[in-house]
Amino acid sequence: MTELGDIIEECRNAVEDPDYPAVHEWLEANPDGKVLGHFQVYFPEEIAHAAGMLPIKTMGADSSVQIREADAHIAAFVCSILRSALEQALSGKLDFLSMYVTHPICDAARHVNGIWTRKFPDVSCQILYYPHNAASPHAATYLLNEYRRIAGLIEEITGRGITDEALRASIELFNENRRLLRELYEIRRNTPWLLSLVEGYVLTRAAGVMPRERHNELLREALPQIRERTNKPQDKIRLVFEGGFCEQPPIEMLSVLQDVAYIVDDDFLIGLRWILEDVPSDGNPMENLAVAYLEASSYSPVQRDPRKPKEHMLLERIRNSGAQAAIVGAAKMCEPGLEEQVAYDNALTEAGIPHLVMEFEEKTANFEQVRMEIETFAESLLFEFV
Ligand code: SF4
Repeated sequence: MTELGDIIEECRNAVEDPDYPAVHEWLEANPDGKVLGHFQVYFPEEIAHAAGMLPIKTMGADSSVQIREADAHIAAFVCSILRSALEQALSGKLDFLSMYVTHPICDAARHVNGIWTRKFPDVSCQILYYPHNAASPHAATYLLNEYRRIAGLIEEITGRGITDEALRASIELFNENRRLLRELYEIRRNTPWLLSLVEGYVLTRAAGVMPRERHNELLREALPQIRERTNKPQDKIRLVFEGGFCEQPPIEMLSVLQDVAYIVDDDFLIGLRWILEDVPSDGNPMENLAVAYLEASSYSPVQRDPRKPKEHMLLERIRNSGAQAAIVGAAKMCEPGLEEQVAYDNALTEAGIPHLVMEFEEKTANFEQVRMEIETFAESLLFEFV
């Protein structure tokens, strides 16, 4: 049995080391293996996994990665994550990629694929187009065809056909991962004093940068140990953090948040938890994945689905987690995030839920201002709720 502290450390290293150590370990064990990187927010990793590829979520980077070359290709008014992801690739940190998939989640992400295609002619740089209107009766068929197209390209790269049997096995593996992550979030909601925000965050985010088999093993061992902790609850406000669906706040900022409040739910890395229930593995597994994306999924500013008004979904997240207030963040220069922030702000005001509206950037290195803002907000709530 691996000790909880060691599990958290392994996940933290996997997340913070810009050299993707867990990927290199996998490649050493699988010298002919191929790696597929995908940009935020959601990608059906099961399809790549079923072809024997290692799918990873390529993230941005904090202030430890200097943007040098990427600024020559992407304008400075574009969000940080697109530039830092490109910088990592230009500096050779992603040389292991055979395929890179982006999604038209915003104008900037749509156009960045062209830069990748030009700069990395040996990598298959693709865009996976999600249906513009998830509620359309044609959305599932359209998405299934998109998945088939991407699957065909993956098969060309790996030289291995994706059988229904292999895809079913991959769906089972990822179902287990989603179940384990749901349990982790349940602990955060019900007993947030047992698991700090940073611990919960690195345990979650590691899913995107290591083989899912290993992540499942780690979570299987970690969850019972977290439940056995004997930490006592503290007098802290319970908050929901919204706005971390794409670019991520730096881990130091999460430390500031956890010092001040219990963050009982959030949308950090929502793509890893996008599908909310087990995907059926019987029948047509690829179709099941497409249907689950549309019908059994969470919400984010980058999916348009009139059946899921995001403000209502946020209010539900707050209610279900027993939060007293919310922090509505948005990454600097993030058009979808900032646009949705206005709708969230209005809905929370109307519902009488106290909230703090703020911006963040993955590259922030000075947290004094953030600490002051969050502390002032939490103190004002303590007078109201405690
Ligand atoms: S942070 Fe916002 S603007 Fe940047 S890529 Fe993500 S969705 Fe697009």
